[in-house]
Amino acid sequence: MGAPKPKSGVGVYVHVPFCAASCPYCDYPHAVASVAGAHDAFARAVQAEVRRRAPRHDAPLRTIYLGGGTPSQLPARHLVDILDAVRAHFGHAEEGREVTVEANPDDLTGTWLRALREAGVTRLSLGVQLFFEEDLRALGRRHDAAEAARALPLAREAGFGNVSLDLLFGLPGQPAARWQATLEKAIQQAPEHVTLYRLTPAAGTPLGERVARGAARLPGGGVATAQYEQALDALGAAGYHAQEQTHLARPGSEARHTRRHWRHQDVLGLGPGAHSFSGGDDGLATRRANAPDWCAYTEALNDGRAPPHTQEHPPRAALADEYVARRLRTARGLSLKTLAARYDRDLRSERGDALDRLRAEGYLEQANGSGSAVRPTRAGRLRLDALTDALL
Ligand code: SF4
Repeated sequence: MGAPKPKSGVGVYVHVPFCAASCPYCDYPHAVASVAGAHDAFARAVQAEVRRRAPRHDAPLRTIYLGGGTPSQLPARHLVDILDAVRAHFGHAEEGREVTVEANPDDLTGTWLRALREAGVTRLSLGVQLFFEEDLRALGRRHDAAEAARALPLAREAGFGNVSLDLLFGLPGQPAARWQATLEKAIQQAPEHVTLYRLTPAAGTPLGERVARGAARLPGGGVATAQYEQALDALGAAGYHAQEQTHLARPGSEARHTRRHWRHQDVLGLGPGAHSFSGGDDGLATRRANAPDWCAYTEALNDGRAPPHTQEHPPRAALADEYVARRLRTARGLSLKTLAARYDRDLRSERGDALDRLRAEGYLEQANGSGSAVRPTRAGRLRLDALTDALL
């Protein structure tokens, strides 16, 4: 008899590493290779990885998320093949209820979008980032303001009723009025979900180097916090609530795949650089990370070998800390009962003083009727790191 299947099932993440160009602030695993042969070999490799790894996850498939990199760099037929392979190995009866694909505005065509819609993709996540030409150029993005503006309408025309927009704040030299105008343009387009990213150029990237030698200046923490608050105000007034610190959604359109990470639910990560997490029915959690080199990944799988990867069983104490930090980012908050049941951590007895003090100071509040769950207040959200540190 097999182990019981986790009720929360599994979410599948597929990392598509290709990008049309390297953005000057990004060190996320990506490759600039638009050769058709590379795409074809990569898509075959992912399907081989599905065949190797999916059977071990004998759990209902809840969500599929194709992220990157830039999945929209791949022709629709490759993405459809990957989705078909995932579904085939988990069984049609348990088809993912949310199937998200990330796309960049300059890649979108009606044909590509319709092919994905017909293949059962339910949600698009558009890397719009900004709507103004000055900001897009300052950031070195490939798309222009016209492409940013037409991305969501194109998705709607193709039948997508669930669209998320990525927005970036904390740009060097962006006036507050232009960030406000960016938020207003996003709201006018009425996406179901918005993800806010603060620009944090990675060390060693072109923008990171410019910042390091003083040739570019990022806004200080106070300005970035003010921009974040501006976004919470504008989006809040338009009916979006903070599902999580940076994920704002209309009620009923909350991101389902991403919330699996905040809940420590199982995720099978496929593709170069993809991370997997399994809570383990026996209490032994497993983390696995595929190496980010997409060539090594593709070669290994197409040769019948496992891709280079690392695997570990993280200690429960470390998982408990991570769980606390992740739950405190969410609107549902941290359930002290769930923390105790899952990780044997009694936060009330360990950090009761800090819990009481943070509540008295207005940084934490009760998140459910029974009082056994806490979440940050708006003031708490603005100093979340300090608040989390106080509880760990
Ligand atoms: S920011 Fe996105 S599109 Fe730009 S290089 Fe990184 S992964 Fe690619």
